[in-house]
Amino acid sequence: MKHKLPAILEKSGLLILFLAVAISLPVSGCSKKHKSSRGGGGGGGGGTGTGTGTGTGTGTGTGTGNIGDADALDLTWGVEENASQADLEYMADRIRTHNNSLWTGTEGQACLRDQTLVNNSSQGDVIIQSIKGPKSNPIGWCMSTSGGWQITLVTGTVNSQIFMHELGHGWVGPFNGEEYSCVNDGVCVQAASMGAGGTEGLIKWCDPDTCVQSQECWNIMLQNHNWDHPGPGGAPPACNVTIQ
Ligand SMILES: [Zn+2]
Ligand SMILES: [Zn+2]
Repeated sequence: MKHKLPAILEKSGLLILFLAVAISLPVSGCSKKHKSSRGGGGGGGGGTGTGTGTGTGTGTGTGTGNIGDADALDLTWGVEENASQADLEYMADRIRTHNNSLWTGTEGQACLRDQTLVNNSSQGDVIIQSIKGPKSNPIGWCMSTSGGWQITLVTGTVNSQIFMHELGHGWVGPFNGEEYSCVNDGVCVQAASMGAGGTEGLIKWCDPDTCVQSQECWNIMLQNHNWDHPGPGGAPPACNVTIQ
């Protein structure tokens, strides 16, 4: 028993130290349930963060919003071909566009935070068969895996509606069925399929007021995520893509 007391004291000391650190952290805006572990910024080419490494940072990147309470996905993207550096950079841009789309579609409640794009790889949360490859039918799909889900896109050139549709199956709903009939251009991303889904950037999920089929996607999203509808919106936060 001789060791017990010092051990408890040590733990209490650590706890107090931890609380002191936590309390002294700068608070930026809202309370956070998913903290970014880095400084913000880095988006739009040339932004540099000044993160403290302990929670919130103060980014100086242009055009980047605050991650706030949003759910941040850190995904690995595997490119199944030996892609050129130029194509990898093109793909990184596509991923940043998808981040904006996810942010818009979830009304400021989810984003792609730290993404890893791996050349010559068949592993990851998202598989790109060929970055500039041709479109074929199906153009993408989402499978359940032991770890959750995995999306495959036959080409990296798909517009955001296709990626959002697949992410809808994997995570946003998740939606188990297709709702290709909830069309009405722009009503619902789950209606996006080859050649449909409206202009790039027109990212919405249907709700009881807009659904023209029966899924009423937002009802499922509200059930499975701690989100609001309408959500807080705002400018999308930075999406960092690391090419490997
Ligand atoms: Zn829908
Ligand atoms: Zn619908």
